[in-house]
Amino acid sequence: MTSLTLLRFLGRPSVLVVLVLAIVGPACGGRETRDDARPASSARPSILVVTLDTTRADAVGPEARGVETPAFNALAARGRRFTQAYAPTPETLPSHASAFSGLYPAGHGVHENARTLASHHPLLAEQLQRGGYRTAAFVSAFVLARRFGLARGFEVYDDELGPSGVERGARETTDRAIAYLASAPTDRPLLVWVHYFDPHAPYAPPEPYRTRYADQPYLGEVAAMDEQLGRLVQAFEQRAPGPVAFIVASDHGEGLGDHGELQHGHLLYQPTMHVPLVIAGPGVEAGTSGVPVSLRRLYHTAIDWAGVDASDEVAPLSLRTGEPEVVLGEAMKPFLSYGWQPQIMAVEGPRKTIFAGRHEVYDVIADPMEAQDLEPSEGVTASMRAAIESYPLPTAGATPSSESLSDEARRQLASLGYVGATAPPVVRANAPRPVDMVRLFEVIDRASTLFVQQRYEEVIPLLQRILRDDPYNLDAALRLATSYSMLGREAQAVATFEKAADIAPQSQDVVLYLALHYERGSRWAQAVPTLERVVAATPDRLPAVEALARVRERQGRVEDALTLWQRVLTLRAPAAADHVHVGELAMAIGRTAPAAEAFEHARRLLGDAFRHDLELGVLYLAAGRLQEARAALDRVPASHPGYPMALFKRAQVSVLLKEPDAADRIGRARARADATTRELIARERLFQ
Ligand SMILES: [Zn+2]
Repeated sequence: MTSLTLLRFLGRPSVLVVLVLAIVGPACGGRETRDDARPASSARPSILVVTLDTTRADAVGPEARGVETPAFNALAARGRRFTQAYAPTPETLPSHASAFSGLYPAGHGVHENARTLASHHPLLAEQLQRGGYRTAAFVSAFVLARRFGLARGFEVYDDELGPSGVERGARETTDRAIAYLASAPTDRPLLVWVHYFDPHAPYAPPEPYRTRYADQPYLGEVAAMDEQLGRLVQAFEQRAPGPVAFIVASDHGEGLGDHGELQHGHLLYQPTMHVPLVIAGPGVEAGTSGVPVSLRRLYHTAIDWAGVDASDEVAPLSLRTGEPEVVLGEAMKPFLSYGWQPQIMAVEGPRKTIFAGRHEVYDVIADPMEAQDLEPSEGVTASMRAAIESYPLPTAGATPSSESLSDEARRQLASLGYVGATAPPVVRANAPRPVDMVRLFEVIDRASTLFVQQRYEEVIPLLQRILRDDPYNLDAALRLATSYSMLGREAQAVATFEKAADIAPQSQDVVLYLALHYERGSRWAQAVPTLERVVAATPDRLPAVEALARVRERQGRVEDALTLWQRVLTLRAPAAADHVHVGELAMAIGRTAPAAEAFEHARRLLGDAFRHDLELGVLYLAAGRLQEARAALDRVPASHPGYPMALFKRAQVSVLLKEPDAADRIGRARARADATTRELIARERLFQ
């Protein structure tokens, strides 16, 4: 792929013309220089970006049917609503990575959730922070947690999701964003990003929306979210310094059964790719625009408002200028996970082309349901065909590298949303087209849920069914092998791992999952070299880090185990039991501070169900935190097997605090002493 052909394919008049347009902007009369056209720094707007996860374009806004979204509509009425906006990909993390980097997934390299955005792509928050903005983000789902790479440039990145550790509702996220706005200094403009997750499955809206939308709980979630959007916008207008600007958009839609897809991520049709998008702020004329635009232009629009000099940008297409371009999109999860055909789409005017093994063409204005494929009658336009052919395919397991490109080429590609081509993709010639596999979507989704819930007996028949129907599905083969392994069905596990190796002889995943299998059994030592190698090469590969942590415990290398477990806790939403485990390990090697911290975490998560106040009390006492030690030991119930120890420690605290009843407490500790504490009490000098 060369950058020049790409430029041509994108159907722009010329780089120069676009550059001039982007610099001057249509509202500037074409005479001002770039510096003059930029708002003076004192007048730079505070910018609120709101992403509405999983919100279909037809589920929000003045034309939405069966749902009321007054807050969104009010913003749409005062700003510009794009009626042909597209997600770059139907998955949360890669779509947000595009919105905040300006790059398509082929450019930033994140094609699926649970990957980490490479650190060399400049992000919107970094650019604006460098330009003098205060920056804060409030996300509502673990899929956007700090560790996945979008936090760069945000002074505040609130991804605390409460007890579930997985998601939080729009009301709580809004409360936290408003609390921030109330306390943020007003000396500099703000960039605030708020992400709402409510419309994502499962659909369980709060009242009164649950009742009001009893038949359409998905729309109920959208309506409930919209109420919070209203609160947020109002607070932002009241508190944010300077003029204000808004960008409200969805990261992707939801299938709701259209084209056989219930949720999102498997296909490129309108229900998941066509998204709502509204911008409002300085220089934006109210109205609607039917020009196809990509969500990735969020980045360039905010850069444009902030007047930040993003020096690596050539012709940044701000939504304020609304320049037409071929809009691209991809859905690579079925390719990367199941070995199905990779999927790329291009939109130009009313025409949309989907490529997945072969081309489909739709007129999305006249035929928004994409019922009639126009490819047989009219073919594919040269510009869309070329744009699709030039779009680089990912290679499973590889992150794209831009090292081999010249700076100039890289800069030009970057302006188009690419950073570099990956190695040649491996597409199986007879790989199925995802749209021909819709019969498996539900089974795959159900199997995925059961597998994550570790319900291995139940998931095995589903995975067997997937493999019968789709024998080259690597994901299903690995999950089936792992399920056998978890249930101790050794022979079936090994046979299925061999099958997975036949499907993908080059796959590092097969090697890793086989090592994970050995790690669970008596031959765990066999797994150690692979685990060490994988963790060294990919320190955020969660299952490998976890397995190596267990190995280190078995080897008695507690210090190493502790370090690995601490990393595990940053890589996934930790449960209380994880914190307890880390606390116990740290305690075992006398690391008081991290031990206390881990138990405190567990206590915050568990509340009244916390059972480790004795450990906390002992740790606080060791650290000289006597008041906290007293409180923790007082919480240990008499029914606790370590109660005699609690009484002993409490008596020590009492003496150190010079409590008037210290003598009584020593007496009680003696009276209730057990085999362990009797000796300790006898030797305790504090009690003499
Ligand atoms: Zn999403």
